[in-house]
Amino acid sequence: MLESVKNTGDINMNLPIRVRYAPSPTGLPHVGNIRTALFNWLFARHSGGKFLLRVEDTDMARKQEGALEAILESLHWLGLDWDEGPETGGPYGPYFQSQRLATYHSFAEKLVAAGHAYYCFCSPQRLEIMRAEQAKRKEPPKYDRHCRDLPPDEVARQRAGGVTPVVRFKTPMEGRTKFDDVIRGEVFFENGTLDDFVLLKSDGYPTYHLANVVDDHLMEISHVLRADEWLSSTPRHVLLYAALGFQPPVFAHLPIILGPDRSKLSKRHGATSVIEFKEQGYLPEVMVNFLALLGWSLDEKTEIMSRQELITNFSLDRVSRTAAIFNIEKLNWMNGVYIRKLGIDDLCVRILPFLKKGMGPRVQRSLPEGYIRAIIPLVQERARTLTEFVELMDFFFDEELGYDPQMLISKGIKSKEAAFGAFRAARQGIEHLARFDAAALEGLLRPLAAELELKTGDFFALLRLAVTGKTATPPLFETMSVLGRERCLTRIDAALKKLVILK
Ligand code: GLU
Repeated sequence: MLESVKNTGDINMNLPIRVRYAPSPTGLPHVGNIRTALFNWLFARHSGGKFLLRVEDTDMARKQEGALEAILESLHWLGLDWDEGPETGGPYGPYFQSQRLATYHSFAEKLVAAGHAYYCFCSPQRLEIMRAEQAKRKEPPKYDRHCRDLPPDEVARQRAGGVTPVVRFKTPMEGRTKFDDVIRGEVFFENGTLDDFVLLKSDGYPTYHLANVVDDHLMEISHVLRADEWLSSTPRHVLLYAALGFQPPVFAHLPIILGPDRSKLSKRHGATSVIEFKEQGYLPEVMVNFLALLGWSLDEKTEIMSRQELITNFSLDRVSRTAAIFNIEKLNWMNGVYIRKLGIDDLCVRILPFLKKGMGPRVQRSLPEGYIRAIIPLVQERARTLTEFVELMDFFFDEELGYDPQMLISKGIKSKEAAFGAFRAARQGIEHLARFDAAALEGLLRPLAAELELKTGDFFALLRLAVTGKTATPPLFETMSVLGRERCLTRIDAALKKLVILK
């Protein structure tokens, strides 16, 4: 394969821009899949073209329950709306390939009639033996073209005998197939390395190659933007376009996404399915921003970009040829940046489902929104994901704090008596405080530490443990003020009880 100067993707530019995301529902859509969807969507929205969703559900063996729903959910979550496809319909439908079988059959028959394809009657057993022998000879697996030149009467005889053939493409055995790729430049493959690939399977379903080419033509797709892994399929498609007399679309193969260690992206680099990111509390606008930078950049330095800025600036000539690196640390950072910019009401709406789901059994299930809104400013700076809010906030809702009573006797306040004294004094002061806010609490508790002859650090640590159950929290007085007087008193009383039973 040779690469040369990039072209700009201007071929077909006079045609209306129509692009598609064409997932196969064979599993949960991962980062790479949705990056492809996003680039197509951005390209369409930037150019005022159309974005189609076409479901390539022709592989019955690999079809997976729930995969289609997950694809739709991922796209909806990220706001990647499609102009034509499932749910929306459109003039080029149906948009499920499984509902277009008759179309593929007719094109396969045309190809056979024109001598570009042929029926192959080889049994799976024969193919298996053939492959085993090729493997023994250390040759790449490749159909040996046994049926390529069967005489017509033999074809008729076999068909009459009830054998269901597959249809194979008659790939030229010599020469090379070339195409221009917007990202990679000119690409060519030696035809001798290509197989007589199957177009129509014996189960009556087309292969990816046939269905994809036929639909891209019939749906008037102008540009095919897809992952690099499909590059080796493209010469087959180019040959098919020529055999069918169709004008091929512009191709742009998007760079592969690797982990920071430059290995194939997998679980150990973080979640890979987009739904998992949703469940882990990443914001959809962050995912869009982050995914857009996996293989595209505005200027190599701008990181934070709104959906509109991405649409305005997206172009294929800034898509890189080299692998994109998926860095979960960067995603976490970016999510934190966006979270800090959100308004309290907005954040409250987004956090609520996570709190409802994530709060432990000690938490009473009514989660008042006014209270949540008061807590948010105390923790907003520290959360990087929406799920982290659960951990940062749970003590505000805990009915019973689960800390070890032994912790009440600390380095600074070594005896039960000292702790009792401290709590009683604090309790009394708190009970009688006129205003229960952070300033008033500080005005009460700082001098009280001196009166009790305790170091403020030790006294505050003791109170913090009693009212939050934790040793590290947002600032104590703000926290207490949000908790409210009643909760603080109840929690101090609970600490006193723990002290009583402490040996
Ligand atoms: N159905 C293929 C996939 O699952 C589509 C590849 C293409 O865009 O041509 O990714």
